[in-house]
Amino acid sequence: MEERDHRQLGKELDLFSFSELVGPGLPLWTPKGTILRQEIDKFIWQLREERGYQRVTIPHITKKDLYETSGHWEKFSEELFKIVSREGREYALKPMNCPHHTQIFDRKPHSYREMPQRYAETTMVYRDEQSGELGGLTRVLSITQDDAHVFCRHSQVKEEFLKIWDIVDLFYKTFGFKLRVRLSFRDPAAPEKYLGTSEIWDKAEGELRAMAEERGADFFEGPGEAALYGPKLDFMGSNAAGREWQVATIQLDMNIPERFDLVCTNEKGERERIVMIHAAIAGSLERCAAVLIEHYGGAFPLWLSPEQVAIIPVSEKHADYSKELHEKLKIAGIRSVLQDENDSLGKKIRNVKQAKLPYFIVIGDKEIESGKLPLENRAGEKIELDIDALVAKLSTEIKEKVI
Ligand SMILES: [Zn+2]
Repeated sequence: MEERDHRQLGKELDLFSFSELVGPGLPLWTPKGTILRQEIDKFIWQLREERGYQRVTIPHITKKDLYETSGHWEKFSEELFKIVSREGREYALKPMNCPHHTQIFDRKPHSYREMPQRYAETTMVYRDEQSGELGGLTRVLSITQDDAHVFCRHSQVKEEFLKIWDIVDLFYKTFGFKLRVRLSFRDPAAPEKYLGTSEIWDKAEGELRAMAEERGADFFEGPGEAALYGPKLDFMGSNAAGREWQVATIQLDMNIPERFDLVCTNEKGERERIVMIHAAIAGSLERCAAVLIEHYGGAFPLWLSPEQVAIIPVSEKHADYSKELHEKLKIAGIRSVLQDENDSLGKKIRNVKQAKLPYFIVIGDKEIESGKLPLENRAGEKIELDIDALVAKLSTEIKEKVI
């Protein structure tokens, strides 16, 4: 099991590190680790953009007033990193993005015709955890959320949930994960704990149940697992080895729109209270990266690999040709690395294998003469291709996210 631990693999593959000076729970992402994060994020964004999401950007701090209105200043107080300016004004580092996003929605009045508004942002939030609880990427103080908020009418909730559910399915299917979903509902024994009327809750829970049935999803109910402000869909992903992780979540929120008085103007020209949907697909990029590092044991599929192809010249006299090939692959958008150290050929190949690169190509006299490039994968399978066929093969594999 130990060799699959993301902390160990992250170090071996040079994906992230920690510094005593920066502090525990604050991962520092290396160039390779940053590519991994970006690929995950790019994929989620692509799925969102196809469904009408728009990117927004917010600052990482806010005046205390925002969280007094949202209720976080009181309820979240222990986990809030608080800041006092030199003029004595109180600020906080954001522990979540929803309150900021409400202010983007509320910058102007919205007609029902403009609903829903779908905002997405991948950004860090900060939560003060006890340092004893910190370790690896699964518990951190700086969490990168792939966060989205949909501001919509009650009548649009089902359609918006289904759209997000599609994204969740497509995203996790790509890694070969099987999903189970928990319908996180109220605790029937303590209905007074929750915000909003019983009728609204009954309706919302009924809708989520109907959706799960309609989709033929593998679901179960989790009474008492709801958020205070609304029911949730919580997704659990499992891989072929049977390991299970909590992955995505979609939450209905009837409380924040109330607190911030968020409305749209309906068909009759009246103010209509809207609802909000919170949706994270990866959840946090740190946790998602940890899950994927362990799932693949560090041997990522081509599209996700920080380094995709290694080019290994047999000796000095093959260096120029190798460099040219390396440049051509880079221009084609393929993350190629040149292994031109003074090591023996055997050592260079061993290094590439240890770094778990998906492919490598050894360049010697024969390859330069024939123009045929021997592309070898991790399983030791080799095919010979000319440069155009090579670029076409790798580009297709990247685009289609072949596992
Ligand atoms: Zn949110």
